[in-house]
Amino acid sequence: MRIAIGALLFEGNTLSPVVNELIDFQNKYCEDGPRLVAKLRGQGVEMSGAIAVLEAEGVEIVPLFASHGGAGGRVSAGAWRELKTRLLEPLRAAGEVDGVYLALHGAMVCQGEDDPEGAILEEARAIVGSVPIAVSTDLHAHVTRQMAELATFIVAYQLYPHDDVRETGERSARMLVDTLRGRVRPVMRVRKAPMIVPAPKQRTHGDTPMADFYRQARAREAAGEVLCASYLPVQPWMDFPDVGFTAAVITDDDPALADAIAKEMVREAWRRRAEFAVPLYTPQEAIRRGMEVGPGPVILSDTADCVGGGGSGDSAVVLRALLDAGLDVPATILIVDAETVRQAQAAGVGRRFSARIGNKLNPVYGPPVEAQAEVARLFEGRFTYTGGILAGGEATMGPSALLRVGAVRVVVSTHSSYEYADEQFLAAGVDPRACRFVVVKNPMNAQTAYADAPAMFILDTPGPTTCNLAALPWRRITRPRYPLDDGFVPDFA
Ligand SMILES: [Zn+2]
Repeated sequence: MRIAIGALLFEGNTLSPVVNELIDFQNKYCEDGPRLVAKLRGQGVEMSGAIAVLEAEGVEIVPLFASHGGAGGRVSAGAWRELKTRLLEPLRAAGEVDGVYLALHGAMVCQGEDDPEGAILEEARAIVGSVPIAVSTDLHAHVTRQMAELATFIVAYQLYPHDDVRETGERSARMLVDTLRGRVRPVMRVRKAPMIVPAPKQRTHGDTPMADFYRQARAREAAGEVLCASYLPVQPWMDFPDVGFTAAVITDDDPALADAIAKEMVREAWRRRAEFAVPLYTPQEAIRRGMEVGPGPVILSDTADCVGGGGSGDSAVVLRALLDAGLDVPATILIVDAETVRQAQAAGVGRRFSARIGNKLNPVYGPPVEAQAEVARLFEGRFTYTGGILAGGEATMGPSALLRVGAVRVVVSTHSSYEYADEQFLAAGVDPRACRFVVVKNPMNAQTAYADAPAMFILDTPGPTTCNLAALPWRRITRPRYPLDDGFVPDFA
């Protein structure tokens, strides 16, 4: 038995001005052919899980290409052409295969291509004909009609934070092998509720609707009612007509049952839609309330500038609010600003200079903050992740500087980097727990990293990854759609 495997993951954001290039994929991993198996065997990604299952089953693995580009806006047209070619040319050259497994994010967007996963599946289908194509996605995938029709089945991550990436690869490969050995006949039906929900309450632990949905899906699988039930609450910053809260249900040769359960799942999500709302605070209000909270760092969550969701990481909106508040307690913030790093390097440690910080990559949401900055430290920007799925992995934010601007320790970096815990602050020599206010730029990881913090305020700030979804400049999304609209009868198409 020969099974071709490949991966292409990238989380896009149509509301972000960021354009991503091949370097963003090369900075994570790009593996071709036999190197794919050699490098990813025993690791924590989907391909690692699939390799373990397929090798144990005695299957001949036909390795295609595997890469992850992180998150951003749109992938450039040139990079997209190159990535698609590297994934699919080896499939064309492979001769006959019995099955294909592709690990895709599901929310990739490219210049000139709104549905890259659908395009990949269309070409893969044209190459292999009717053989089973197994697909796995992030639970933030925007599942299109094209994807649902061309994939034999879609298995999504079950967890957010995504702690089951490798397991998703195992589950997908196992179901594909079971299909090819005639043990199951998977059929899938996909339904959507016309709603998008902010990220914090998509968490699958604790007291959230998603935690309940997670348990319900596992119960259906354990009872043998379905082969797999996936909830996909979707990456909510995709301005496409049919973006929505999705259920993908796979049964053993029972399409009517799959459809009935998928409909039941999205109907329940719709019924509980209001539970996904999170209280939002202006930076001024959050700082005022934070001053009244007991000891410990108060977390100001600027989720609107989340690098992990396609933000540019260079918003200075909260820095402005911290400076305007005239604080006499320490605060810290990370801002991507290569120009300010170079100015700090030119000035030297211990010197002061007139800085214009942030809002250069994404100037739409405000001007740079102009202030006198003292260079406290210059450093390389390398760090090791201590939290999340990248824990233990090396990363870099490029040459960086620690600036003192009033009471605020401003870490400026050359490149953007996602925060899983407090790695970037520690790399800068700042202990965030000794600060009164810590500005984080993510909706999820900070809930784990600062679980002991006395208060966390999710901010109502402008940016392409805001939790205030109704405030975004939507153009293409089909109306009515919650939370832009409410009080209408949904169709669950
Ligand atoms: Zn995700």
